[in-house]
Amino acid sequence: MAWEPWTGCYPVSEGCKYCYYYGLYSKRYGQNNIVRTDEFYKPIETVFMPRKKITKYRIESSKIVYTCFTTDFFLTEADDWRIEAWQMIRKRPDLTFLFLTKRIERFNVSLPDDWKDGYDNVWIGCSVENQETADARLPLYISLPIKHKFIVLSPLLSSIDLSSYLHGIDTVRAYGESGKEARVCDFDWIIDLKKQCEAANVQFYFVSTGMNFRYKGELKKINPYMQRKIAKDLFPSNLSEDEIVLV
Ligand code: SF4
Repeated sequence: MAWEPWTGCYPVSEGCKYCYYYGLYSKRYGQNNIVRTDEFYKPIETVFMPRKKITKYRIESSKIVYTCFTTDFFLTEADDWRIEAWQMIRKRPDLTFLFLTKRIERFNVSLPDDWKDGYDNVWIGCSVENQETADARLPLYISLPIKHKFIVLSPLLSSIDLSSYLHGIDTVRAYGESGKEARVCDFDWIIDLKKQCEAANVQFYFVSTGMNFRYKGELKKINPYMQRKIAKDLFPSNLSEDEIVLV
């Protein structure tokens, strides 16, 4: 279940260079326009059931609500909207709201007064792409009062030493870059990240190889339809080099 209360974004670091996410709503709302969408109130929309004569929420309980995947929840332009978004999130403790950010330094802006050590139903992932962004964002991130934390390496652009930042992290998820302009993702970086996570007892997922994948020193172009499958198959790795599909 997706919820895009607003849409539009702009680059904040190297990983954003070829971002296509914020263009997904561009036909409807304009490219790069940061605007509230017509589904702003989606989590608290209700529907009347004439037979049972009851009114219930349109989004049923227990759903995971993937929030702000075509934007960033912590955009400056959304500071006022976020106040209402938090109110809706608080009103629906029966849903899990999950979002990612490359702007974790803005976490405290418009945070509700009753946040304390975090809402149980909110998962906030910190997205980084190289050592520089990891060192800039993660020391703050791990210190913040968030109940469920995960690190997203998207797109993964270099080897990264995460070992100082894994305390209190539930999962680490790594993605190679997709698209025609994609930069290389190297399998050696993935192996190293997996080892770091194992040492810290943190779950690691290699989610996607991306388009340009260096495997055992050799650069391979991976069919977009195979990027997730190959990444999944590599752990535990029984896949031989020959089994990687070239396009
Ligand atoms: S912050 Fe996220 S959505 Fe915004 S430009 Fe960067 S990668 Fe894209």
